[in-house]
Amino acid sequence: MSRSPIRIALVGIGKIARDQHIPALAASSDYELVAAVTRHGPVEGISTFGSITEMRQSGLALDAVSLCTPPLGRHVLAREAIAAGLHVMLEKPPGATVSEVESLALAARKAGLALFATWHTRAAPAIERARSWLAGRRIGSATIIWREDVRQWHPGQAWIWEPGGFGVFDPGINALSAATAILPQALFLTDASLFYPENRAMPIAAHLSMSDSEGIAINADFDWRERGTQRWDIDVETDAGRLTLSKGGAALAIDGETLIDEDEISAEYPNLYVRFAELVRSRMLDVDLAPLRLVADAFMLGRRVQVDPFVE
Ligand code: NAP
Repeated sequence: MSRSPIRIALVGIGKIARDQHIPALAASSDYELVAAVTRHGPVEGISTFGSITEMRQSGLALDAVSLCTPPLGRHVLAREAIAAGLHVMLEKPPGATVSEVESLALAARKAGLALFATWHTRAAPAIERARSWLAGRRIGSATIIWREDVRQWHPGQAWIWEPGGFGVFDPGINALSAATAILPQALFLTDASLFYPENRAMPIAAHLSMSDSEGIAINADFDWRERGTQRWDIDVETDAGRLTLSKGGAALAIDGETLIDEDEISAEYPNLYVRFAELVRSRMLDVDLAPLRLVADAFMLGRRVQVDPFVE
């Protein structure tokens, strides 16, 4: 028997909503995209509202919202949606603080609604294969290199430099979401250095040292100043060889032999929406805060290093 589609609204129509969410929803028979909430102008083909409140007052029939706004401020939107009986999907990072997302999870559970804290990198093509390959191995060490050019990937996004904007942890948390998914033990932070441009409130680079219950060393190098080859790589040394996850989870090699090499990460958002449909239909939560906790710990433990001003 066919099920009626989930009537969903997108909130915050910026880069990720246009690049990924709208195409993923358009291609899925699980959903009907019925509205957008945006502060800037209409979105072609669907009802557009200036706020969730306005959308609710219109009487539009709706089951769920997907929040694509920056992390700071998303909590208020999610609370309003849950109070209105709507299932909620959150872009990454799921919120500006650990405690606010925990409070959302409590509210959603109490209301019997789905809440999905997405980690799009975990939905990349090579992640599951990497996780299952590592599951039976003895791990020696891991190195994470996430180096990209902020001018290319975040042009004009002032919010990422403000408190709650995460700075280089906006991409870095993707690496942590992958590492916490593929490595068999829970990770914890042991040391961090955060590099702040003297004119910015958030770091432009970070070096993290982590470990796990087996005592392995996991080092991460996040940098937004990379003008050359962009790198989103995790190398894991094991007793059975070196696993290399690259291209942000789209490619996988063992000892240099390629097992997976997808050209793009186009599967990530369709996969996220498949998972959200499962959660909505079963009124369940999927809220793993391990990557967010590591970032919070980096801000708690991190040594502050001042670097040259960043001018876009
Ligand atoms: P963006 O281009 O700046 O878009 C964010 C949108 O949110 C804005 O266009 C605006 O939409 C709305 N908004 C509401 N309150 C805002 C505020 N105070 N400041 C700025 N915008 C506000 O950002 P984005 O790149 O789409 O990123 C949004 C989220 O998606 C972030 O959490 C990011 O980490 C995540 N993400 C981004 C990418 C990427 O490649 N860019 C990839 C994966 C995940 P309206 O004008 O419609 O109100």
